[in-house]
Amino acid sequence: MRLNLFWKLGLAFFALLLAVLLPIDFYAERALRRNYERAGFEQLHAIARIALADPPQGSSLSPAHPEESAGLPSWVARMSASGVRVTVITSDGKVLADSQSDTSTMENHAARPEIRDALANGEGQSIRHSVTLNRDLLYYAARLPAAGGPPVVLRFALPAQAPDEELWDFRRRLWLSSFVMLLVTGVVSLLISRSFSDRVDRLTRFSLRVAEGDFRPIEADRSGDDMETLAASLNETAARLDRTIRTLTEERNLSSAILGSMVEGVAVVNASERLVFANPGFAEILGLDVPPQSGRALVEVVRQTELIEAVRRVLKGEPRVEAEIVTGTLRQRFFAATVASVHAADASGAIIVLHDITELRKLERVRRDFVANVSHELRTPLTAIQGFSETLLAGALDDPQNRVRFLEIILEHSKRLARLTDDLLMLSKMDADRLNLEISRLSVSQFVESCVETTQRPAAEKDLRVSVNLAQCLPDIAADRRRLAEILQNLLDNAIQYTPPGGQIMVSASADSDEVTFTVSDTGIGIPQADQPRIFERFYRVDVARSREVGGTGLGLAIAKHLVEVHGGRIWVDSEVGQGSQFHFTVPIFDPERASSRNGR
Ligand code: ADP
Repeated sequence: MRLNLFWKLGLAFFALLLAVLLPIDFYAERALRRNYERAGFEQLHAIARIALADPPQGSSLSPAHPEESAGLPSWVARMSASGVRVTVITSDGKVLADSQSDTSTMENHAARPEIRDALANGEGQSIRHSVTLNRDLLYYAARLPAAGGPPVVLRFALPAQAPDEELWDFRRRLWLSSFVMLLVTGVVSLLISRSFSDRVDRLTRFSLRVAEGDFRPIEADRSGDDMETLAASLNETAARLDRTIRTLTEERNLSSAILGSMVEGVAVVNASERLVFANPGFAEILGLDVPPQSGRALVEVVRQTELIEAVRRVLKGEPRVEAEIVTGTLRQRFFAATVASVHAADASGAIIVLHDITELRKLERVRRDFVANVSHELRTPLTAIQGFSETLLAGALDDPQNRVRFLEIILEHSKRLARLTDDLLMLSKMDADRLNLEISRLSVSQFVESCVETTQRPAAEKDLRVSVNLAQCLPDIAADRRRLAEILQNLLDNAIQYTPPGGQIMVSASADSDEVTFTVSDTGIGIPQADQPRIFERFYRVDVARSREVGGTGLGLAIAKHLVEVHGGRIWVDSEVGQGSQFHFTVPIFDPERASSRNGR
């Protein structure tokens, strides 16, 4: 770059110098030549005047009498003493005498222009090549009238080449001084170009730096010239670029952070149904490991035809299309897809937003099932009550053998109805969050003893043995006594119901740092592995007929689970079919601060 600029400047200087020097050389040569010729002619004039004033004597000029021309050579020699060539020519062109050549060898001179002019006008001059001397000469001729005869012509000549030497001398000086000037200007241009290209280099490095994203300003060189202005405006441009890029980057980071952390799937497709963008949520919903690359066709990524159809409708002009898609086969998930058209600059496309509605669908299903279950549960006792009342009214009242049995059946079913409505009421309270817990400090042993006491009688009726096994020094717990009793009672009732006579039931409790774990074990029928995760659902029963038979509602464990959870504990089951079941639940240890905050609920 530096060399380049230097040579460019140097060449420019050199060309400029040549452009000036060549015309100077040309015109100087012409001026010198003219000057020399003028001086030459003036010299010839002066000599001619002298010669005319002192012409060769009379008959010596007559060609008819050459013997009388003896005086002519000496006159010619005299006249040519100053270095000019002197020639005497008759009016018919014959050369009578010449100072530098033998007249006998000379051709007729009548046709020479200066001779013709001299004969015609009295004088004549010319610059031309001398055939006799074979060189360029300046000629001046004057007519000299001869007494009693035709005039003769006196001609004087000087060499025309003389200025060449002077010219070369002049040229030498001119070129030499020019060369010196060229050297000086070369050095100057080197210095100028060096400082100039240093500054250009700095600006180049600066712009490269900016291109790589380093926007620190360049230092001003305080030269006050255009380059400083350029540097200042580059600084301003860099600062603006920096601001714009920062703003854009912040915006981009913000939007990609938002889109990246959204659980909703968001994707944008262009008019040719190719993905322009997809967030991690979108990839996750469609079961892809990483967000699909931009440019992939939508049909390669999405299998759900409803979604592809919705996108196509939007690309055809509909502003917004809603659809629902399902993913997964074993664990189905439901998504509400909203596809809307987007227009950015001159491009158009569609934006897809996938919203997970699996929970909603599940809740809907639970509600539907719940209503169906409740109606079903209510119908059985109601049908029985209705049937036996009608039978009694239709005459069975008079049948002393059966009426008591019928009334007992009606009573049993009404009790069942009451239990069911109690449980439903409890559930609805829990759902509405209207369970006002009265948390207090409870002694584990006292609490367990009182519950087991009420169980002893029904257990004994079924020939079951109930025992208690508590760890030593159990800490007190924080719980609502009545609700906690409902939980334990429920588990004990189940244990009694699902354990054949002769079995054993045991209530145990142990503590760790922050909770006490209660366990109700039985030696009953057990629960199949596949049913275990579901027995805490509402109305879920492993064996519906058997549960009904023992008067179960299918709501007991659901209520127990909810009550345990509102106390801040967990409930789970370990069971093996035919071996028995162990139901475990935890309750937090009493902590005065937590207890006071809970009481507020
Ligand atoms: P239910 O009123 O039918 O007892 P629960 O919600 O209390 O309803 O129990 C749900 C189901 O869990 C029961 O129908 C029964 O199949 C099973 N189950 C509960 N406890 C036991 C247990 N101790 N042993 C065997 N199965 C049990």
